[in-house]
Amino acid sequence: MSDTIDADTLRAKYRAERDKRLRAEGNAQYREPSGSLATFLDDPNAVDDGRAPVHDHVDVVIIGGGFSGLLAGVRLREAGLDRIRIIETGRDVGGTWYWNRYPGVQCDIESYIYLPLLEQVGSMPSEKYAHGDEIFAHTRAIASKWDLYRDALFGTHVESMEWNDDHWVVRTDRGDVMTSKYVVSAIGPLSRLKLPGIPGIETFEGHAFHTSRWDYAYTGGDSTGGLTGLTDKRVGIIGTGATSIQCIPHLGRWAQHLHVFQRTPSSVDVRGNAPTDPEWAASLPPGWQQERIDNFGTLVSGGYAEVDLVSDGWTDIIRRLTSLGMAEMIAAGMGPEEIAAQMELIDFEKMNEIRARVDEFVDDPATAEALKPWYRQFCKRPCFNDDYLPTFNRPNVTLVDTGGRGVERITERGVVVDGTEYEVDCLIFGTGFEVGTDYVRRAGFDLVGEGGVMLSEKWGHEVATFQGLISHGFPNCFFMGGVQSGVSPNFTELYNEQSIHLGYVVGEVERRGAAVVSTTAEAEADWVATIRASDMSRADFQTECTPGYYNNEGRPGEGPGWFGGNFGGGAPAFFTLLREWRATGSMDGLELR
Ligand code: NDP
Repeated sequence: MSDTIDADTLRAKYRAERDKRLRAEGNAQYREPSGSLATFLDDPNAVDDGRAPVHDHVDVVIIGGGFSGLLAGVRLREAGLDRIRIIETGRDVGGTWYWNRYPGVQCDIESYIYLPLLEQVGSMPSEKYAHGDEIFAHTRAIASKWDLYRDALFGTHVESMEWNDDHWVVRTDRGDVMTSKYVVSAIGPLSRLKLPGIPGIETFEGHAFHTSRWDYAYTGGDSTGGLTGLTDKRVGIIGTGATSIQCIPHLGRWAQHLHVFQRTPSSVDVRGNAPTDPEWAASLPPGWQQERIDNFGTLVSGGYAEVDLVSDGWTDIIRRLTSLGMAEMIAAGMGPEEIAAQMELIDFEKMNEIRARVDEFVDDPATAEALKPWYRQFCKRPCFNDDYLPTFNRPNVTLVDTGGRGVERITERGVVVDGTEYEVDCLIFGTGFEVGTDYVRRAGFDLVGEGGVMLSEKWGHEVATFQGLISHGFPNCFFMGGVQSGVSPNFTELYNEQSIHLGYVVGEVERRGAAVVSTTAEAEADWVATIRASDMSRADFQTECTPGYYNNEGRPGEGPGWFGGNFGGGAPAFFTLLREWRATGSMDGLELR
């Protein structure tokens, strides 16, 4: 392996490519969709339900109807709560899968482990990597089965939540004012779209939208393709992340001409999707899904498992980088530095394969060269797609590589790179979502806790929770998602485990006849110390990486990024810790009254 790899040359190339992209502004290079850009937030699927404001009392308000909010709802239903109210900006449940309906939208984690509660719902995805409409349908099936539509409010945005002795008062932008015993914030990690702060972005006079608000009224077709409205349109797309990789093949097929504006190439590996084999599905024993989820979770966090049930690009990369390689290295008596050097070599090898795939699929050598990613695996989320690279062989598709600098300017007519203006009729922003900005900003509401303390004030100093679930001074309020909790590439694995934990805590509060549950300052301080000590951010690795949301846009020491502030012992260890805590039955760290 090492015979074919010149590590010094590769390291120098990676640094040079990173340096081209480092920007002093970090996260501040992006713009919020506000002012004249606020229309980018408009929901193309919105239908006004014309409902009257609600004034009532419920058992729990869950903010967010994506997988984390739904799973919270399921477990709270199982814990015996009756009035469960999901409040959701979208017009249905689904979260990510409600908003992201772009052509080609697909799960990049195997659907047999990504779609939660398959056995309970009694369904089986039609493909190994299911497409968005099927996943959206599954979210609706969960909401129906656990009766979560009954009290839900859609097209509604929570504006404030205030603690009042033993309940929360929740106000919304639709004039609703309700009281609730509990609240659950399930806002999702990638829910607030962001736009690039490219000069002139407001001046574009053609049609423009973000990928999470796909305008089929303009493009024609649906998430399976058929974009007949684009056959006479010059289309530009800015961004080549996981979203754009999936929709660019469709744009290439239908646009009169497509310009792809690239700042950093993605690492694009084999997808290898396949329809579900009905015989295999029929042969699965009860409990198969959790076993498969655990098996994947173990392997992708560097653990060892006899078999690799999912056996895809994720487990292949991580097995190579960690578990199997690691076991052999330790057995061979290698020390930490030797192991780190060996892992770097394995990484170089994997990325050489990814770059070789570009040469294999892209005919024009200059285009192929520009599409090659020069960074380590996991500097950015790896992508998997079999149609993306061949799209650049189409005569109507042009890659406009910005040499790492990004788009220079946007004009009334199009996009400027290196002084050349590319005129487009339609400009699509595949520029992602806010990560690493303040929680309250991403949520779009603040919480007023005990003694009038605002969550924005408290977390403005430092995010602090007990087990990622509850924050001192904010009783009966629970957080879902990656706030001081575990991190898994399979997001729903985390949400499921957290929801079981939430269901247990609320179930105990109810069983013990308590009105209020809070965490002590000591328990919170201990958890914060655990998080700090486990340091998930891998600052050395992240500093060497090309900028992106994983490393706080190239400034890993100055903000949490994706991994910072979470439990660094791996998701399985986090889940074990929660399970062991529940098994004691002591509710240590929580106070009930
Ligand atoms: P990303 O943040 O991954 O990508 C944004 C893209 O916009 C990047 O290519 C970025 O370049 C580019 N960009 C930003 N500013 C500029 C600029 N000024 N000029 C040119 N280009 C610019 O967003 P995505 O929506 O693609 O993906 C977000 C996440 O959503 C994924 O990482 C993944 O976690 C999730 N996802 C999951 C899917 C699934 O199948 N489960 C599918 C799609 C998304 P640069 O890299 O240089 O910053």
